[in-house]
Amino acid sequence: MKILLVRPKFFSLVANLEPLGLEYLGGALREEGIPYEIWDEFQAPFALRFTRLRRKIRRERFTAVGFSVNANTADEVREKARALKAEFPRLTVLVGGPEAEVNYRDFCTEGVDFVCYDYGVETFRAMCASGFDPAAAAALPGLARRTGDGWVCNPPAPPVSNFTVQPDREPMRRSWRRNFIFGKGPHALVKASFSCPFRCAFCYCTMMNGGVYTQRPLSDVLADIEALEAERIWLVDDDFLLNRERVVEFCDLVLKRGVRKQFMAYARADFPAEHPDLLPLLYRAGFRDILVGLEAADDATLDAYHKETGRAVNEAAIRNLRAAGLVCNGLFVVSHAATREDFRNLLDFIRKNRLLWVVFGIFTPYKGSDAYEEYRDRLLTRKAKKLDGLHVTIRPEHMSKLMFYLRVVLLHAATYPKLLFRILRGTAYDTEKDGWW
Ligand code: SF4
Repeated sequence: MKILLVRPKFFSLVANLEPLGLEYLGGALREEGIPYEIWDEFQAPFALRFTRLRRKIRRERFTAVGFSVNANTADEVREKARALKAEFPRLTVLVGGPEAEVNYRDFCTEGVDFVCYDYGVETFRAMCASGFDPAAAAALPGLARRTGDGWVCNPPAPPVSNFTVQPDREPMRRSWRRNFIFGKGPHALVKASFSCPFRCAFCYCTMMNGGVYTQRPLSDVLADIEALEAERIWLVDDDFLLNRERVVEFCDLVLKRGVRKQFMAYARADFPAEHPDLLPLLYRAGFRDILVGLEAADDATLDAYHKETGRAVNEAAIRNLRAAGLVCNGLFVVSHAATREDFRNLLDFIRKNRLLWVVFGIFTPYKGSDAYEEYRDRLLTRKAKKLDGLHVTIRPEHMSKLMFYLRVVLLHAATYPKLLFRILRGTAYDTEKDGWW
């Protein structure tokens, strides 16, 4: 047996990071002594990706291929599975990853042999260790398998609260020279919790891990961080700043153990808004970037998103983070219901609150999210590659599609030149500065 773990490439100008999910699967295969390789398509050009993949499978005699699938690569993975099976009939094809975890039945398709929707690595590990034995597969939770009578989907696995293996970080080391986040440099990834206890309408992170929020022991998280050579760490929890006691404990451990790293993490706006006293501690522990889901500048849109915050909370979050020297990276979701005035208000909000780092996504009802149920009949497209927050997937209510795109472009045109200038000047992290210098 020899397994190729593949991360399909998709268009991204803003980041090129390690395939952490596959690195954990690689760690499980390493422990089992099963030969494998992680094939990260992000490290190669777009052109001829499938030709390279086929050639690799043939030349190096892989017996199984496992795809990690996101919402925007779902069609491509289904198509590649079908084509690979046609060319290599004895090849075992597996599908897993975030999209398969939430919508596993969508991958019970031609060319696929197994779909893994286990929340950790244990089902995958046991299945590979058994040599894809059908009897073993029948007993594994979180696994769909093709049988003579069609597909059989085993019950989902229980939620996980920790990793059971160490990741194989070799892919990160190999591609470190190409690793980057726009304007921020290279980052290694660490995950300290699973899912999110909130339920914003557009978000499908909250559906992960069976919809159950769990936290890893901080001692394990710190051990992961200390084992990394990287200076900058992105804590990729869907919401790292959630529990006050845990955040304090994390910072205390970092300081006590003398960990000298720079941290970036996601947060909801209500945490920095309600805990300004904690932010200097975060700064001392090495936090610099907080990615805040501000989402919108008006209460009505925030309510429609079920965000449980408000404009005033957003403003307090930005203010408090700035006062502590922390960079607030404002993440916005532009609604299909936005009017011309809403676009103007959003820009006014950004200017008034002196936000420098901003990211704009377009409201997308991902399958599995609450919004999908609400908008499934209004979807303009079902093409997976359009599910990336960059495309209009619901007809804008107050303008043409073209004007909507144009206004999103104008949002970027109005905000990014200054950010670029400040990055080039080396002052993009100076939260006291306001102007172009
Ligand atoms: S948007 Fe953030 S806070 Fe809301 S459900 Fe998703 S991860 Fe949780």
